[in-house]
Amino acid sequence: MSAQQIQPCMPRVVIIGAGMAGILTAIKLHEAGYEDYVIYEKSDRLGGTWRDNTYPGIACDVPAHLYTYSFEPNPDWSQTFAPGPEIAAYFERVARKYDVVERIRFNEGVPSCEFRDGRWQIRTSTGREDVADVVVAATGVLHHPHTADIPGLETFAGASFHSARWDHRVPLEGKRVGVIGTGSTAIQITSALSRKVSRLDLYQRTAQWVMPIENLPYSEAERLAFRTDPKKLQALRVSVNEAFCRFSNAVIDASSPEMKEIEDACLANLESNVLDPVLREKLRPDYRAGCKRLIFSSDFYTAVQAPSVDVVTEGIECVEPEGIRTKDGKLHELDVLVIATGFKADSFIRPTHVLGRGGVNLDDVWADSPVAYLSISIPEFPNFFLLNGPNGPVGNFSLIQIAESQVGYILKLLSEIKAGHCREISPKPEETARFEAERIVAAKKSIWATGCRSWYLDKNGVPASWPWSRDRFFEVMAVPQLEAYDLTG
Ligand code: NAP
Repeated sequence: MSAQQIQPCMPRVVIIGAGMAGILTAIKLHEAGYEDYVIYEKSDRLGGTWRDNTYPGIACDVPAHLYTYSFEPNPDWSQTFAPGPEIAAYFERVARKYDVVERIRFNEGVPSCEFRDGRWQIRTSTGREDVADVVVAATGVLHHPHTADIPGLETFAGASFHSARWDHRVPLEGKRVGVIGTGSTAIQITSALSRKVSRLDLYQRTAQWVMPIENLPYSEAERLAFRTDPKKLQALRVSVNEAFCRFSNAVIDASSPEMKEIEDACLANLESNVLDPVLREKLRPDYRAGCKRLIFSSDFYTAVQAPSVDVVTEGIECVEPEGIRTKDGKLHELDVLVIATGFKADSFIRPTHVLGRGGVNLDDVWADSPVAYLSISIPEFPNFFLLNGPNGPVGNFSLIQIAESQVGYILKLLSEIKAGHCREISPKPEETARFEAERIVAAKKSIWATGCRSWYLDKNGVPASWPWSRDRFFEVMAVPQLEAYDLTG
């Protein structure tokens, strides 16, 4: 059948994941007139990251008014950087307001998606068989906890858990707590717990650059003004966005003056706010600022200077029932051990078993490292779209802005199916290879490639991120170049 003869069709869409991106997809599908869609969510609640991460001190280091759907501003954010529970409540509220909740099948993960006979055959964890024309994988970026391979971890006699699996039944007051890691998560936990526990050992393998921020509360008068005058809220969003863009654009050029400015601000923060010279040297990074995800914190340096906090830089030899033994032979006795060692950042939809056209297996396609055309779609996986997928703009951007532009792009592709111009859309292999080759060249010039260990790097040491400007990303997302795709009937 030629492309012109295909009948217009309203595709059935399966969305995987009811986090920020899945909720967004459902809202935008409905708005665009698609009515046949469902969200499969493996958990019993929506919210993704903000459901899973409930550790003390959790907050978003992207300003709250940017970490908000553009179509659903929130005049009631309590402070510049919103705490996690407020963000979780925001997604719950939006999902209810837009009637997304009734579209979610909770406690139903998707272990398998197979493209057969021109459609996606979905099997869920309850044994349900579903068939869809389109799959949107809204499965998140930092989703699968990475638990460090530290000898003896399982022998610890006290309570021990990953930061994304916080056990709130465990009392902390008066306890000796060990935190392994110094990523954004561990820094927030340290700031929150330093004065609550009797001792906090922060096990630091690598020092962090810490950008000072002011986390100011919005007064009741300000919130009232935002509520009554949407223009004020919009103006705030625009000004925060402008400030943020400067940073987002700086990271792509390691030698940019903006990058130098960021490094100087972090350095001044360290020099003037950490008083003990020994501690200051422990906390001094030996790599470029921004190479790892920059830490934004108003109170970390205050927290680590509390008498109850010890920054342990000696390497960890092993975990024993009583605590952590460091390489100098010292045993640090602990009651609670927090594993804040990050996430497997290259999993994306995996371990879902995804088979594309002709049985091609996503595990094989991504065996070296995950690749997707414009971070959204994969050759031979027709009508299969990823939100916040591989090599997207993940470095200190608002992932909501990214996801909104990606959903807009996907809807434009879907309109080709809806109009009957084709049944299947997948990027051309040669376009994908060309895009990826260019991306790698640019990524190697970014700040992330200046010599540090981070979750931004793939296993070949190449930054797995969008290496161009923010503006370029939004421009590319504005209009799909259909010639880059195979549109087939
Ligand atoms: P992360 O940035 O990957 O940090 C993991 C930490 O664990 C690092 O300090 C790492 O040390 C350490 N580590 C890993 N394996 C270790 C081992 N075997 N022994 C000792 N230390 C080990 O993870 P994260 O802190 O959970 O943050 C991940 C990302 O989540 C962030 O970069 C950010 O994008 C996001 N996040 C965002 C917010 C927010 O406010 N928006 C808050 C939390 C997290 P090395 O540095 O030496 O590798």
